[in-house]
Amino acid sequence: MEIIQNYSLAELQDLMKEWGEKPFRAKQIMDNIVLSKPISSCSNIPNELKQKLLENFYDEPLKIHTILNGKDGTQKFAYELTDGNIIEGVLMHYKYGNTLCVSTQVGCRMGCKFCASTLNGLARNLTAGEILSQVLVVNAYLGGKKDRDRQVTNVVLMGSGEPLDNYDNVIKFIHLLNAKEGLNISARNISLSTCGIVPNILRLAKENLPIVLTISLHAPNDEIRKKIMPIANKYSIHEIIDAAKKYFESTNRRVIFEYALTDGVNNTPECARELAGLVHGFPSHVNLIPLNEVKERDLKTVTRKKAEQFANLLQKLGVSVTIRRTIGEDIGGACGQLRNKIIKDNSNIE
Ligand code: SAH
Repeated sequence: MEIIQNYSLAELQDLMKEWGEKPFRAKQIMDNIVLSKPISSCSNIPNELKQKLLENFYDEPLKIHTILNGKDGTQKFAYELTDGNIIEGVLMHYKYGNTLCVSTQVGCRMGCKFCASTLNGLARNLTAGEILSQVLVVNAYLGGKKDRDRQVTNVVLMGSGEPLDNYDNVIKFIHLLNAKEGLNISARNISLSTCGIVPNILRLAKENLPIVLTISLHAPNDEIRKKIMPIANKYSIHEIIDAAKKYFESTNRRVIFEYALTDGVNNTPECARELAGLVHGFPSHVNLIPLNEVKERDLKTVTRKKAEQFANLLQKLGVSVTIRRTIGEDIGGACGQLRNKIIKDNSNIE
């Protein structure tokens, strides 16, 4: 059994052909997928075909398990997959639209010291359809009816998991999300965040998909980076910066560097100077995030004042920089926190 959300329109057309069905059924099925309808409630599909679909596919790809509402309007979703695994995402409401943060794996194997997603390691990769379904169910939850009424306007691959460690499914997901007959979300409104898997950044640069690339740098040199991000033992910062430059050259999209300010680890003036030297001379932007403290970890965040001092120094050195608003703190905004709580409690919160 699999989920039908993994299929593109062309693949559904092939399937209908194989099953001896009329080709237009593929588009009807796709319309139901976009509306996030369970197969069993697709009223425009003949019963016989519906039965055949249900013999081959799960009725629903995932279900919303929990919704937490933050004071600032941020909403955190936990979803239950067909195999019982729990994943999570965050919905942020902005003036220009709604941004949904999606997970790409169940857990993560990257082992970053500040991150809650990786505490239990990697359970499995998500399929393209499972990543897509997070967007579809939230779009339907918000009242969206296809592209005429698109409620989720922007998607960021910044939830649990390392997107470039699940490369093929992630690329397929972006194509499905982008498709005219799907939600038709433009590549420009999609951001992908990676801890820096260099060969796959280079592959991504050649996909002809102008999505925004965000790289989790978090340190200005390999020595500090190795202390908090095990991936730094595999790829050096210089290889990452080179890959980011190549990404810019082939997509013309400015690369964003994420830098979680962690007191006493990466926030000295020397760190700011080193960071400025790294990103100097090519179109990029530094996003400073005061660390979202995770209770299982002993790393400490910085005060607003210290964050501003760090940002001001970078600015003086000619770096384009902003301090990201910390959002959803009261609902465990950091990756993996809600999933871990559900696994521990093993009970419904709402
Ligand atoms: N694996 C990808 C995407 C998931 S994490 C990556 O590493 O980029 C999304 C972003 O949140 C990354 O920049 C990550 O480093 C950051 N992050 C994770 N835990 C955090 C925490 N406790 N506080 C602040 N940022 C955190």
